[in-house]
Amino acid sequence: MTAARRIDSWGRVLHARQLPVPLAWRDVSLEALPDSSLLAHGLGRTYGDGCLNDGGALLLTRGLDRFIAFDSKTGILRCEAGVSLEEIIRLALPRGWFLPVTPGTKYVTVGGAIANDVHGKNHHRAGTFGRFVRAFELVRSDGRVECTPEKNADLFRATVGGLGLTGLVTWAEIQLKPVTSAIVEQEVTKFRSLDEFFALNQEADHKFEYTVAWIDGLATGRSLGRGHFISGNHAPADLAHPGKIRAKPLLRVPFDAPKWLLNPVTIRLFNTAYYHRQLRRVSRSTTSFDPFFYPLDLVGEWNRIYGTGGLFQYQCAVPPQSMREVIRALLVEIARSRQASFLAVLKTFGDLKSPGLMSFPRPGATLSLDFANRGEVTNALFERLDAMVEECGGALYPAKDARMSPARFRRFFPAWEEFARHLEPRFSSSFWRRVTDAKGARA
Ligand SMILES: Cc1cc2nc3c(=O)[nH]c(=O)nc-3n(C[C@H](O)[C@H](O)[C@H](O)COP(=O)(O)OP(=O)(O)OC[C@H]3O[C@@H](n4cnc5c(N)ncnc54)[C@H](O)[C@@H]3O)c2cc1C
Repeated sequence: MTAARRIDSWGRVLHARQLPVPLAWRDVSLEALPDSSLLAHGLGRTYGDGCLNDGGALLLTRGLDRFIAFDSKTGILRCEAGVSLEEIIRLALPRGWFLPVTPGTKYVTVGGAIANDVHGKNHHRAGTFGRFVRAFELVRSDGRVECTPEKNADLFRATVGGLGLTGLVTWAEIQLKPVTSAIVEQEVTKFRSLDEFFALNQEADHKFEYTVAWIDGLATGRSLGRGHFISGNHAPADLAHPGKIRAKPLLRVPFDAPKWLLNPVTIRLFNTAYYHRQLRRVSRSTTSFDPFFYPLDLVGEWNRIYGTGGLFQYQCAVPPQSMREVIRALLVEIARSRQASFLAVLKTFGDLKSPGLMSFPRPGATLSLDFANRGEVTNALFERLDAMVEECGGALYPAKDARMSPARFRRFFPAWEEFARHLEPRFSSSFWRRVTDAKGARA
């Protein structure tokens, strides 16, 4: 029998030992699994402890990687929950279909995309991934349940964005979206301040299906919030040439980078060069979907550049009425701390309601930044940011979180008690025990 071993999440800050249980078939029953607390684990792209179960077992779902049915006329796809978004693109794009919503990496499983009800650059038009889930099967202690937005609707709402805690999703049926091309017509606009960002964004949301901004997290004063606004639409033709669909990263980071590599000086140099790399204010081009949606996927294991201490991603959402002031205040605090890295993203969420009880996206703006783990200093900064997010009625994204307090979790997700009624009793995660002050996993 396999022994418990360390399995990390993407941030590599929290270390957990758990019994790996690879799954190969979807007719699995919980009775046949080890008598310990259980949690599904897809591609481990969660930054914090949402995909970890310290002291328990992890059900490794990548063996559930079969396509079950695909109708190329309607774009309805049924597949096992361990299928990755990259595999879906490879099947569907040459046939004229694309993911209705995609996060910033394609190395995410369908089960993971449901459990965090993920969002992408088209949130203002499409809402979250869960809105396109037509059905799924959930394996629980009391058997198998098929859920749709109408059938077993409570369990559907609890499972979408339900952090993997309502049971094991074995297969799901998703409505893909028709596209005319694998090519994206992209527009990149350089902006000098946060006010310019909001003005551009308001205009672009009507014109573009995809919008997002890169922000220089170290800029201060009049340049605070400067960056590049990236928008795009699928190009109108060219299906015959879907472009290269990259199954693997182009390069890999071969070792953990030394601590000194990412410091305020090198990051400031990088950010300044990146900001000025575009000389014109607006640049228009066509690009393959791959670098447009997944620029980070070009470099495998890029998380290693943060060294052995790992990284945190801080992602918050703030409501529309106060988003301008709160995003400004957050950026002032972050710039003052000189801790931000070069990965900083700002986007507005639209009004389309997320289908999950615990889904993170909500109307307003979302800011996400990566930070090298510098222990207490980083934590102290996050405490200050958390207080601002809490005060304005915002929330932190569980998929990125490794440290929010139980009190704040309850404030950010007021439906948590209703959600807790749908928990699968044999399932738990390190995240859930942390934010509910519960005891360790039953090993
Ligand atoms: C570079 C990068 C960019 C990202 N960009 C975005 C973004 O733009 N938007 C966004 O929303 N997120 C983003 N994320 C976060 C990522 O989309 C989510 O964390 C996603 O859930 C990861 O899926 P996974 O397959 O790796 O699942 P894991 O990380 O392994 O698990 C995530 C959760 O899914 C549950 N789960 C997995 N499979 C199943 C199953 N079969 N049944 C039940 N539960 C299951 C797990 O228990 C866990 O709770 C990004 C992450 C990275 C690393």
